[in-house]
Amino acid sequence: MKQGTLYIVSTPIGNLEDITLRALRILKEVDSIAAEDTRHTKILLDRYDIHKPLISYYSFNKLQKKDKIIALLEEGKKIALVSDAGTPGISDPGAVLIKSAIEKNITITAIPGPAALIMALVISGKPTNKFIFEGFLSNKSAKRRKQLEKLKDEKRTIIIYESCHRITKLLGDIADVMDDREIALARELTKKFEETKRAKASVLLRHFSDTKPRGEFIVII
Ligand code: SAM
Repeated sequence: MKQGTLYIVSTPIGNLEDITLRALRILKEVDSIAAEDTRHTKILLDRYDIHKPLISYYSFNKLQKKDKIIALLEEGKKIALVSDAGTPGISDPGAVLIKSAIEKNITITAIPGPAALIMALVISGKPTNKFIFEGFLSNKSAKRRKQLEKLKDEKRTIIIYESCHRITKLLGDIADVMDDREIALARELTKKFEETKRAKASVLLRHFSDTKPRGEFIVII
């Protein structure tokens, strides 16, 4: 029996115009779309008049839904995987499905597009020739500080994801553990309140102690 294809489709990280013509064509052609947050993805699909069945695939149901999606692919269905923002598989549940599809020898195709970490890196002004991506550090303070200790002597540019709820804690730890060095902080990339600040971690910490941090953050060290 003919196997299906899993399309890893990159979608916007904020601005709905940031989607490729090929991504839109694939989303129109597939049998269904596996999405991290179906309500969120529906906003994008409505904007481009795409009407496809959505399968909710998020962190807490990923193991159970993964088997269902793999079964559909084995039946010959074409399925697109999208995340809430950017490239599926980067700091989101997508990686588990992709690994499983590889194990089952299912054809996988990636449709390139935005990835928040790359945008943050190029806009930061830090060296781009060598960099490492750490994703989200631990939400436990002691563990996070240990992770930063290990990164202290790293020569490559370091990229870290963080939410608005924990950004001040992360900035405080960077100031303490990493000699309060000059970092870049990218916030709400491609969105209305997009901004990138370049300053010492302690200065950024002071700023966000006065101004409530909102939105999504990327720290570049
Ligand atoms: N798969 C996504 C990608 O391609 O980068 C990342 C998903 S991860 C669950 C979400 C994190 O990505 C956020 O907490 C933030 O650190 C970063 N992020 C996503 N969109 C962003 C944006 N527009 N501006 C700044 N950071 C963003």
